[in-house]
Amino acid sequence: MKYLLFLLMMNSACATSVKVEPMKPGELVTVESQPGFVRWVSFPVQEGWENATLQCKDQKLKHAPLGQGMRFAYIAETYHSDLSAFKCKLIQGKEEREVIDFSIKPFKYKEEKLKVPFRTIKLSKTDLARAQREQRMLAELYTKSAALPYFNQPFIAPLDSYITSIYGNRRVYNNAHKSQHLGTDFRAAIGVPVPATNRGRVLFAGDLFYTGGTVIIDHGMDIFSVYGHLSEVKVQEGQVVNRGDIVALSGNTGRSSGPHLHWGVKIHGDYVNGYSLIDESKKQFP
Ligand SMILES: [Zn+2]
Repeated sequence: MKYLLFLLMMNSACATSVKVEPMKPGELVTVESQPGFVRWVSFPVQEGWENATLQCKDQKLKHAPLGQGMRFAYIAETYHSDLSAFKCKLIQGKEEREVIDFSIKPFKYKEEKLKVPFRTIKLSKTDLARAQREQRMLAELYTKSAALPYFNQPFIAPLDSYITSIYGNRRVYNNAHKSQHLGTDFRAAIGVPVPATNRGRVLFAGDLFYTGGTVIIDHGMDIFSVYGHLSEVKVQEGQVVNRGDIVALSGNTGRSSGPHLHWGVKIHGDYVNGYSLIDESKKQFP
């Protein structure tokens, strides 16, 4: 029993300590990304700079300790990227230090055509008012992410069924209205149990105009997962859920062209490809 306990402790110690390249303070970490992708980035921080502000372009990003003088952040590049390179810096008082050198390669997204109910495109005055009200409510909620991660293992896809629409497709609705699909659609009949993609706190559980029955989970560090078009919501706001816990049943509610699960990943304000978060989180928990 004692030995087993020792093994378990060793295991959890291994799971949390990440091997990172030794770096000297002042050395720039170089990272390459693409529009709609997130990168897990570890960087050295000099003693006394642990609480410094990490700023990339005009965004202040949350960062967390990795041990051995290293910290990490999940850095998302917007789908609407202008592909220009930038440097992230730590700011403390009047001092600044560049820590990450970011470059962006282009990515070609495909186009798809869809038919949806006309009323979900040309909104009535009432629907428009509702959609705008919800947008303001969500914008406020998205400012409430926990400073540190809730999760202690990699992210997983909510379903492993056939993907009917990948992230980033440029969409033409009813041959007229254009937008982008900034999530992943999984084939799912009405009533399929939907697990949480990782541990987190339920930020929203309810009904929205566009995504119908919706669950939003805050994973901490401004990382959120969104589950849409649900037939039934199984969790309550404020509840902490573990990876794999059933949070809802799939459905066909909101602006939907058939039963499926829409899974979105939003990271500090930008929807990114959820699979890039899955891949990158494996670097944090190798
Ligand atoms: Zn979708």
